[in-house]
Amino acid sequence: MNVDTSSSPPSGDPPPPALGLRVLVVEDNASDRWYFSEILRSRGYTVVSCEDGETAWAAFQEAPPPLILLDLGLPGMDGLELCRRIRAHPGGAAPVILAVTGREETGAVSDMLEAGGDDFIRKPVDPRLLDIRLLIAERRIHEQDERRETADALASTTRELAKLFQNLQDVFFSVDLSTGELIQVSPASEKLFGFEPEDLLERPELWRRYLLPAEGDADPWQRLQDEGSGGPSVREYPVELPGGSIRWIRATVEVERDESGQPVRADGVATDTTDERQARVELARRNEELDALHRLAEVSLVPGQSLDELYNQILTLVTETLETPIAAIEQVDRDRDRLVVTAAQGVDRTAAERPCEVPIHDSISGEAVRTRQPVVVTSAQDLRGRLPTCLDGRPIEFYAALPLLAGSEVLGTLMLASTEPVAWNPRRTALALNLATSVAAIAERFEAEEALRASEARFRTLAGQLSQANRELESFAYSVSHDLRAPLRTMQGFAHALLQNFGESLEPEARDYARRIIASGKQSETLIGDLLAYSRLSFEELELKPVDLDRVVEAARAQVDSYLSEAEAEIEVEGPLPSVKGSHTMLVQVVANLLSNAAKFVPEGRTPTIRIRSEERGDMIRLWVEDNGIGIPEGQDDRIFRVFERLSEGSDRPGTGIGLAIVRRGMQRIGGDCGVERRDPHGSAFWISAPREIRTRWRPWGRRSGG
Ligand code: ADP
Repeated sequence: MNVDTSSSPPSGDPPPPALGLRVLVVEDNASDRWYFSEILRSRGYTVVSCEDGETAWAAFQEAPPPLILLDLGLPGMDGLELCRRIRAHPGGAAPVILAVTGREETGAVSDMLEAGGDDFIRKPVDPRLLDIRLLIAERRIHEQDERRETADALASTTRELAKLFQNLQDVFFSVDLSTGELIQVSPASEKLFGFEPEDLLERPELWRRYLLPAEGDADPWQRLQDEGSGGPSVREYPVELPGGSIRWIRATVEVERDESGQPVRADGVATDTTDERQARVELARRNEELDALHRLAEVSLVPGQSLDELYNQILTLVTETLETPIAAIEQVDRDRDRLVVTAAQGVDRTAAERPCEVPIHDSISGEAVRTRQPVVVTSAQDLRGRLPTCLDGRPIEFYAALPLLAGSEVLGTLMLASTEPVAWNPRRTALALNLATSVAAIAERFEAEEALRASEARFRTLAGQLSQANRELESFAYSVSHDLRAPLRTMQGFAHALLQNFGESLEPEARDYARRIIASGKQSETLIGDLLAYSRLSFEELELKPVDLDRVVEAARAQVDSYLSEAEAEIEVEGPLPSVKGSHTMLVQVVANLLSNAAKFVPEGRTPTIRIRSEERGDMIRLWVEDNGIGIPEGQDDRIFRVFERLSEGSDRPGTGIGLAIVRRGMQRIGGDCGVERRDPHGSAFWISAPREIRTRWRPWGRRSGG
């Protein structure tokens, strides 16, 4: 074999159109072989050349080329034989065969075409004609390539589709409606129903069980045909599989009709909807649960209902939701080892003479309390003798007790029962337990609210009694003080008369006694006066009006003027002072007390200096009365404002211990306050505060601001 794979074209030739295309040149004549090879190379072909049929056949088998230039008149295996062999070759290679013939006869050409050749060219070969023939061959090769690619793509798509079809979960099927036979069913039938398509195709009773099974006596296939052409019909139904499990199938079937409207065929798809259905059922159940809990919350929030009413509402809801006709709330009575029914539905309590209860240590409900777990019993036998007394003698088939858990405590149980068997499952237990937990929370909250309400009521009663007692005491103090005044005055009058009329004849000691009676009387009178003033402050109707503090201070100074003058007190007022809302008389009384104290509690030899000023604090006005006196020791601030409280530091000064109590009571009555602060190096700063008087300023008619 002479294999020459170099492919450099002669210079000056047109650009090669078939760069790299392999060509097998089979030619016994050496000069012709060289000639063909050169032309082909110049056109960009990769040339493999052979001088006889056998060599060419071997070269072809080794690597089939897309194009063969074949001399028909070869020694040994001739061109026709080679042609036939190539065409019969099973490898799928179909090269374009361009025959070269020297013979004139048309027979040679027809022999060549018959043997599988595609085209021919006569010797001596005209290079222009060879060009044309090569172009035709190239086009044919190109077309063959394209055809092959298309066929390959089609084959792979077909394979993919087949695979997809194999893997489909849904079963596709067709039924011939004229014969009533299943004519086609997809392989998924094995997965969905456990039967190969062949089984179903052969056994009508089998496919009719899985694809639209009969409902009662009606034939669904007949009905499908009668229904008319209203689009596909959908049906969902359960089927029992060979293993005994139940699957839900949704079949969508469409009937095909001929021109006259006669049903011909039904095409359908059967889908397994078991999981989807379960999800749907689950969702519905969840909604139902949420709805129940929501309604429970609503019921529990209705105001003003008693615990009995609340329990009855809850139990109605529970029986509706859990579909057990009997429901009760049992409360733990640990002292008696009993669970006592406090509310019930479906139990005739009026007929029961005994209380409805059950021992905790030996009952089903008791077990729920002891284990803090739900207990569900569905066999009548296990229930015997372990039920609450009000269910005695009733043919109970179902019983459940759910613990009412409140933190670490078990309050009791939510009991459910039925005289019929109940379709129960763990889901229901979970829902019942959820409801029970909510019931426990509601009961706990209700009890806490009840306790709060009771203690509030108790508190109100006590507060009422206390203020009544206070009022009585104050009015008693008032009348006693008032009534004491007259005999006191009489006593003083007689003491005065004794001194005046019989003073001369009395022993000096007796005169001293008479004077002491007068002094004590005076002291008592002051005390009574102060007490009366204090009591009056509690009863008196105070009309709150704008009060000018400048005028208050002025009046207070006048009231205690003799006192201040005697003490030689210096008073500085930082005016003008604002107005407050209060009672003028009361405020004068308060300020007078503060002023007299400020002048009174000053160490011997120090001139009392009193400074009065005001300060705004939000909606309140503070009036300060500051002195340079003996001061208030630490920790006594509150004490000095109480009745009869006097500090040892100033106890040698006259006083009753009521002045500051009047200050506090008075300020409280107008919604104000009072207090004291220490001042360095000595002295105290007493303050009173009262609501600020907010004046509304009316703009005069017709006058514009800024005008
Ligand atoms: P009284 O002045 O009649 O003693 P008060 O109720 O007015 O009673 O005062 C109670 C006590 O508070 C006084 O006895 C005194 O100890 C103390 N106190 C009141 N005002 C002052 C003050 N400005 N400086 C020092 N101590 C005071």
